[in-house]
Amino acid sequence: MEILFATHNKNKLLEVKKLLPKEITILSLEDINYFKEVIEDKKTILENSIKKASEIYQITTRNCFADDTGLEVEELGGKPGVLSKRFAGTNANSNDNIKKLLKLMENKSNRKARFVTVFSLIIDGKIKNFEGICNGHIAKEKKGNKGFGYDSIFIPSGEKLTFAEMEIDKKNMLAHRAIAVKKLVFFLTKQFNANS
Ligand code: IMP
Repeated sequence: MEILFATHNKNKLLEVKKLLPKEITILSLEDINYFKEVIEDKKTILENSIKKASEIYQITTRNCFADDTGLEVEELGGKPGVLSKRFAGTNANSNDNIKKLLKLMENKSNRKARFVTVFSLIIDGKIKNFEGICNGHIAKEKKGNKGFGYDSIFIPSGEKLTFAEMEIDKKNMLAHRAIAVKKLVFFLTKQFNANS
């Protein structure tokens, strides 16, 4: 089974590739020479995820899935949440976003946070969503240089290291994206077996 992952993010692609069984071949947007970004302007992570998958399905007519992720910090009332990508401004990069978050969290004792991911899968025009949540807390400073996004300031529950200090396989044992992808793979495998 061949399926398109509607992302330009190489780190996400690598994480997801490692979680897929060999029966599922994954293509990225680069593989099909599609370089445009889908604008993430919805109010929720679920809506953005559906928008990404739907737009790419309409344009490419290929079965596909997309994801949207947000980091929700309890002390900040769930922010940056759906605004995680552009927390420090429209053209902000991960460093800018992290700086802003660490500044807001200076001297805060409640550092609880969670990553929330939704994957939206479209097969023959039908959509199905899968959620993954990873609880943890915000570190006092950046640590590690693996991963991407907010990985260097997020320590998952029960661990001492940030995601950016972990090998990808270790992150994949704990993380939001892996939890959602495992649900998606279970669903796809059932479909595949039913149709073969
Ligand atoms: P999006 O899902 O690509 O829109 O990501 C929203 C924001 O969350 C971006 O700033 C990403 O860099 C960040 N992000 C998404 N997934 C992860 C992750 O697994 N770890 C850390 N940051 C992430």
